[in-house]
Amino acid sequence: MTPICLVGIGKIAVDQHVPAIAGSADWELAATVSRAGHVAGVQAYTDFDQMLAERPDIPVVSLCLPPVPRYDYAAKAIAAGRHVMLEKPPGATLAEVYALADMAQAAGVTLYTTWHSRMAEGVDPAKSWLADKQITAAHINWKEDVRRWHPGQDWVFEPGGMGVFDPGSNALSIITEILPMPIHLRNATLSFPANRDTPIAAQMQWTENVTGDFDWRQEGPQSWDITVETTVGTLVLHDGGARLVIDGKDAVVGPRAEYPALYDRMAELVAAGRSEVDLSPMLHVADALTLGKRITVDAFDF
Ligand code: NAP
Repeated sequence: MTPICLVGIGKIAVDQHVPAIAGSADWELAATVSRAGHVAGVQAYTDFDQMLAERPDIPVVSLCLPPVPRYDYAAKAIAAGRHVMLEKPPGATLAEVYALADMAQAAGVTLYTTWHSRMAEGVDPAKSWLADKQITAAHINWKEDVRRWHPGQDWVFEPGGMGVFDPGSNALSIITEILPMPIHLRNATLSFPANRDTPIAAQMQWTENVTGDFDWRQEGPQSWDITVETTVGTLVLHDGGARLVIDGKDAVVGPRAEYPALYDRMAELVAAGRSEVDLSPMLHVADALTLGKRITVDAFDF
């Protein structure tokens, strides 16, 4: 098994990365770096430079930090000759991720921009079904309660936190994977709470009759659905890509294992000496922030 270091022991590290690594035949969690978090039985560092200096035996680093602090860690890891796995969204800006990709190539290490929702059970079969279809329209309905899923995480409303596009980029990662044609944004309306720096809701309209409603103020039932209309029928991905319904009937989907699949993919990339850097979901976020009309809505506090 290959030793791996997990950096940023917060919500997603504890919920998904630690169990995925523990269940993998490829990886052994050899160290963590976090100011406050740790994993029982695993050597815990609070200083990243110290970990890099003291553990040359760890060739791979997985970064679970929020996007803004992530670049500096990734750049240091690559400079130290380590392969790097990035949580989504892969950075605070597109340019910084392109820079990391160049650094990784020059250093001969793997860089993997993970998009966990692309590994959801229904996504591959949806992509296969749509591959030879003529798409007439598509709609993203991504509405959740930020208080429930990100309690107290103020970074999501700080510059670079991306607001509703933090979960919204999951939908964008799916739609950019399953549609057989490219789309680009025509217009968007972004709702910024009066006291915050990132949007809490967004309405988007792309080419090819593709639209999206993203909202972080949804109480009660939560919606993570993508509907695609074709000339021969309708496909719906529910539950963030976990459930696939074609013409009203549930389709067979793969096993539920988004994060294990990401770590399997990282093992393949490292073994093959390749990188995988896909910024297409983030491109649509950047376009929304470039093109979108901004309206101010009620202040938001956790
Ligand atoms: P989080 O719990 O708020 O933060 C993760 C860890 O990052 C923190 O525990 C903290 O560890 C470290 N950190 C935070 N700010 C830092 C800073 N300025 N400098 C250095 N370290 C810092 O966030 P999260 O919910 O796990 O999300 C992290 C990433 O995973 C995000 O990009 C998010 O989009 C993605 N993600 C989250 C979820 C989810 O359900 N939450 C799901 C999928 C993907 P220490 O304070 O111990 O250093």
